[in-house]
Amino acid sequence: MTTSWRAEGSIAPHRVAAMAAGSRVFLRNGVRVIDSARLGLPAFEPGTVWLVGAGPGDPGLLSALALHALNCSDVIAYDALVDSRILRLARPDAALYYAGKRGGRPSPSQPDISARLIQLAGAGNRVLRLKGGDPFVFGRGGEEALALREAGIRFRIVPGITAGIGGLAYAGIPVTHRDTNSAVTFLTGHDSDGEVPGGLDWDAIARGASVLVLYMASRYLAKIARRLMAAGRHSDEPVAIISKATTPEQQVLLSTLEEIASTNIDIPVPAIVVIGRVVCLRAALDWVGAIEPRPDTPL
Ligand code: SAH
Repeated sequence: MTTSWRAEGSIAPHRVAAMAAGSRVFLRNGVRVIDSARLGLPAFEPGTVWLVGAGPGDPGLLSALALHALNCSDVIAYDALVDSRILRLARPDAALYYAGKRGGRPSPSQPDISARLIQLAGAGNRVLRLKGGDPFVFGRGGEEALALREAGIRFRIVPGITAGIGGLAYAGIPVTHRDTNSAVTFLTGHDSDGEVPGGLDWDAIARGASVLVLYMASRYLAKIARRLMAAGRHSDEPVAIISKATTPEQQVLLSTLEEIASTNIDIPVPAIVVIGRVVCLRAALDWVGAIEPRPDTPL
């Protein structure tokens, strides 16, 4: 289970062929492997945990470190939001654990997940904790890292592309734009009780940055839109809801605060919501639609 990557076996014929062809592509059991030495990537030491962001979906958005971790890890504990195409990049003999909280499957609690990571690393495994987007953006990565530190387990954090930036980019919406906003607010649409976050000062949020990016907001979107309008945001302010961003099923719904406030919409999840004038740039910058035309979803 914890065989060393470098020490393993002889070089496979297909890998020799790739090397002989002068290519920097290495294959292991037919899986493409990153040239970590050439990139100067750190060794994934047995008994350590890497908390890695897998990005919003598109495997092309993985970092070299994330790919390296997938190539090396003995055990992968992954979240519901990790795209299945990414899991297929794992070492063929790696053990995969689902540590997600959705999809009708039994949900491990956060302390259970942390305890499992500690136990797996304590047993000498290279443990990859793979999370959607970035582990430190509404991802509970901080809680897991604190538990590891407490248990004396060494860890590394590998940032990922967060849905609130990468998802918008795939919808042709820049998160900042010189003519529209020099600040942006990222917020969660529900708190740990699953309610509209009571701890948030919605008046201050409405008055603050002109662009708001909302995670986990599908459920309370109408309520949030009403609060923002009550706090002074314009009823015709543009809103984009980007579902399954960066995946082949990506869908974009364009609307306004007023319309969102008064409509019960069935939003495919996961979805990221952006409110503000940057949404208008999609009309010119929808590069995904230019490659593969797909109409915006009507409300
Ligand atoms: N750590 C993640 C966020 C986890 S919270 C990150 O950095 O992206 C989960 C929320 O992220 C979802 O409810 C949704 O709002 C957003 N999200 C994650 N992946 C997404 C995707 N592919 N498309 C749209 N929204 C996504």
